[in-house]
Amino acid sequence: MNDIKNRKGKVVIVSGPSGVGKSTICEEVVKRLNDVYLSISVTTRPRSKAEVDGEDYWFISEQEFQERIDKGLLLEYAEVFGHLYGTPRDKVEEAVQADKTVILEIDVQGAKQAKAIFPDAVMIFILPPTEKALIERMNHRGRDAADAAEKRLNGASSEIAAAWQHYKHMVINEDLQQAVDECVQIIESS
Ligand code: 5GP
Repeated sequence: MNDIKNRKGKVVIVSGPSGVGKSTICEEVVKRLNDVYLSISVTTRPRSKAEVDGEDYWFISEQEFQERIDKGLLLEYAEVFGHLYGTPRDKVEEAVQADKTVILEIDVQGAKQAKAIFPDAVMIFILPPTEKALIERMNHRGRDAADAAEKRLNGASSEIAAAWQHYKHMVINEDLQQAVDECVQIIESS
């Protein structure tokens, strides 16, 4: 295994409640930076129709996920809304050794684990402009059944409360372009 203490690249952790627009922001940020790697997580969550295996996530079974934990292949992992999500270690380590900026779009529990490994990680939390806007975006996305959507909304409140402790940078996603500009600025100046 590479010695990640001697790493060169910058690690950026992006979190925020479901439906806040993290994925879109991260995709736009990637287009604006050179030498950047956006980590693709593994998850046991079922794939939605719009998602592509290997692009949005690697969709795997619980057994496969457990095997990856046992083999130490995950940099961090957490259970979020009843499903497991984790960051594959090898690709991230390769990218940091290659001096790339690595973006991890992960939840607050995983962010704490990743921060323990990369103490100087740039921590960005994306906030919705209002609770109403978040509900509208979740409904518009239409991926969840009503009970799952409610779980995600309740989760949002506790994530936002925890975020004040763990994240140096808070970015409000009211206007996508502005939120992307802010994230790029934070990353470039960190
Ligand atoms: P979703 O199901 O909406 O795609 O993701 C649900 C939550 O899981 C989001 O907060 C997302 O940031 C988080 N998540 C996605 N990938 C990972 C990961 O690899 N590790 C952790 N800890 N959380 C993740």
